[in-house]
Amino acid sequence: MKHKIFSLILLMIVLVLAGCKEQPIVQAPAGFHIIKAPIERTPFTVPIDWITIDIVDEIVEEIDSEPIKHVDEKVVYLTFDDGPSKQTEQILQILADYDAKATFFYLVPNMIEFPDKVREVAMNHTIGHHGVSHNKEIIYRSASSVVEEMMEGQDYLYELTGISSNLIRAPFGSSPYMVPEYKQAVRDAGFILWDWTIDSRDWQYRDGRYIDEVITQYEKLSSDKPVVILLHEHIETVEHLPTLLNYFAQKGYTFRSLNESLPAYVNPY
Ligand SMILES: [Zn+2]
Repeated sequence: MKHKIFSLILLMIVLVLAGCKEQPIVQAPAGFHIIKAPIERTPFTVPIDWITIDIVDEIVEEIDSEPIKHVDEKVVYLTFDDGPSKQTEQILQILADYDAKATFFYLVPNMIEFPDKVREVAMNHTIGHHGVSHNKEIIYRSASSVVEEMMEGQDYLYELTGISSNLIRAPFGSSPYMVPEYKQAVRDAGFILWDWTIDSRDWQYRDGRYIDEVITQYEKLSSDKPVVILLHEHIETVEHLPTLLNYFAQKGYTFRSLNESLPAYVNPY
């Protein structure tokens, strides 16, 4: 940057000096006017390294500031809801084996039960909030009850880890419970709502069939959507998790955590 400013100042000085070169005063003989001829000047050339370095700097800056286009990349976002749990440790081990990052949407009572797991997960992965009650009648009673449950999770996570996360997942998904008024309320409170694009239905199968379910939905998934997979911290889910990771790893995918700069995916209302 200093080099760039110095180069510009030097360039300006040289140009100003060149422009101020005084012309000899010539007296025109009586009856004649002096017509100013164009002044011949040697074209000023800037040393090549002054320009190239600055241009390269600018190009690099432009590339760095480009937004992340997750739909163009081969990325899978694994999301585990309802934890932490007794299975968390094993999930972390499997993820580490595949150099995979994931996102965990936590319930407050479970964070209270497993505070050490929360701290451990927070070191390598992203944590978001899933509320307190996980009960449709309670959390979706009003816009403020949704916001309050999510804030309780946010406060408790901060207390445990010093991390303030704005990511949330609505229990049972945003549709149809998160009516437009509720969505606006969580947005106003600074939260970023995330649904999934693939529901593994591991909550229903409770065996290895959820892998086939994921693959079937993945094959139908439109290419403009991110691959966000809904999973739970069930024993059966963990048991077959390496098969799932293998499937996507062999297709050249990497596994990343959601973050607050990604455009959040929400299912149509
Ligand atoms: Zn849930």
